[in-house]
Amino acid sequence: MSRDDKSNSKAFSFGTFLPYGRQSVDEDDIAAVVEVLRSPWLTTGPTVAAFENALAARVGSEFAVAVSSGTAALHCAMASIGIGPGDEVIVPTITFLATANSVVYQGGKPVFADVLPDSLLIDPADVERKITPRTKAIIAVDYAGQPCDYGVLREIASRHGLILVADACHSLGASHYGQPVGSLADITVFSFHPVKLIAAGEGGMLVTDNAAWAEFSRTFRNHGMTVDHRQRLAEGLWRYDMPAPGYNYRMSDIHAALGFSQLRKLEQFLARRRLIATTYANAFNNSTVVKPLSARDTNEHAWHLYVVAASGGSREDLFHSLRDKGIGVNVHYYPVHLQSYYRNAYDTAAGDCPVAEAVAQNMLSIPIFPGMSEEDAQIVIDAINSFSL
Ligand SMILES: *Cc1c(COP(=O)(O)O)cnc(C)c1O
Repeated sequence: MSRDDKSNSKAFSFGTFLPYGRQSVDEDDIAAVVEVLRSPWLTTGPTVAAFENALAARVGSEFAVAVSSGTAALHCAMASIGIGPGDEVIVPTITFLATANSVVYQGGKPVFADVLPDSLLIDPADVERKITPRTKAIIAVDYAGQPCDYGVLREIASRHGLILVADACHSLGASHYGQPVGSLADITVFSFHPVKLIAAGEGGMLVTDNAAWAEFSRTFRNHGMTVDHRQRLAEGLWRYDMPAPGYNYRMSDIHAALGFSQLRKLEQFLARRRLIATTYANAFNNSTVVKPLSARDTNEHAWHLYVVAASGGSREDLFHSLRDKGIGVNVHYYPVHLQSYYRNAYDTAAGDCPVAEAVAQNMLSIPIFPGMSEEDAQIVIDAINSFSL
């Protein structure tokens, strides 16, 4: 399998296995990390601040708080808006576990909403049905990189006095009616896990226009201490206060250096993802084997994932056929409300989200990442189009 990605093919090789996603790290990224290693600050310092400012500017948000993962950013978001015991937060069932778990960390109750069959985005009509007097917030997930129906969700949230949170771990760089993801919800959360749009190794960021939530998150990521080490040093203070315990969710400057360097390449990465997505869309236009999810023309998609529905109950066979050919297909995701923890602790059950339960049997994520060559895409297309039961 040829790879036209010179950047990191020497550093690491998957051999003949084509993964569903993979970071692109080049010499600039490596130099940026090395520069921090030679500097006085290894953990949260000037590079974290620079990364925060650059990301806030890119996504059209006033404040940004970098943390150790997307999951930590979701937890900061839930804590900032005051989720606690007795509170319900509506989340889509087709998402990564962390979206729902972040509500549990705060003692709240995730309430699972169904998804739209063509896009797997949260279904606003089901959100509306699942609102109760205890509902405090909605977490919209931009599944696969496509922004949700923010106009509709905003209207529902306003009418019921709810906070709208965006889990944009798939959609950094995407936009909806020309507005960037990061400016569409009350709080937006990003992940910099290597398989996401940009890599920091591990890392996440929360963006918001709400100064109090941003301030809370800065405290929450650092044990709940109101004055951090750098501030104390700058102001000649030794005294610190902890109004409530927080966590160690800090991002290091080492990770921030990689994330910041990668952010400069976001447009280039997105362009490559869009090219692969267009190649697939054209190839599967009349396919009897798979049907791609729909991408709306009101959205600029970030294409974190390329998800297709396998026709006529063929998913398991297609999955194994592609894996046997060295193609790293995956399933995103098994509905979260069917996880044993949620069944046991929150009484969720099959039937709660019928659309998600049905589509989850057919979907398959096929490889898409910036370092993928046209030949790689063609290998995937040929393997799928030649598949027969
Ligand atoms: C990756 C992901 C997360 C968690 O991000 P981490 O950085 O891995 O903690 C949360 N939600 C969604 C939808 C994700 O894809």
